[in-house]
Amino acid sequence: MTMRDFRKARARDLVARRGADDITDMNVPGGLTPPRPRPSKAEDRALIEQSVAPVTRLIVCKCGRRATVKIPAERVGLVSLVCSKCGAKSKA
Ligand SMILES: [Zn+2]
Repeated sequence: MTMRDFRKARARDLVARRGADDITDMNVPGGLTPPRPRPSKAEDRALIEQSVAPVTRLIVCKCGRRATVKIPAERVGLVSLVCSKCGAKSKA
């Protein structure tokens, strides 16, 4: 006697042989929700692209110097910038 559990394999085999019913055809009131549409790969790629894209910030120093800097997304909040005019440090 083996201790293997064949339930999953048996269920897969049954679905393969008999087919599966679409849950949206069951007309179940309320209880079961139809499966959510899966986000497309293009949407996923756009989201990833957006989260990795460098961030552009306008830094204003106490001395009045202003500069636009491009910071990599993973370094936002960690970068310490030094003013080239007065040498003051500021967070970006
Ligand atoms: Zn400055």
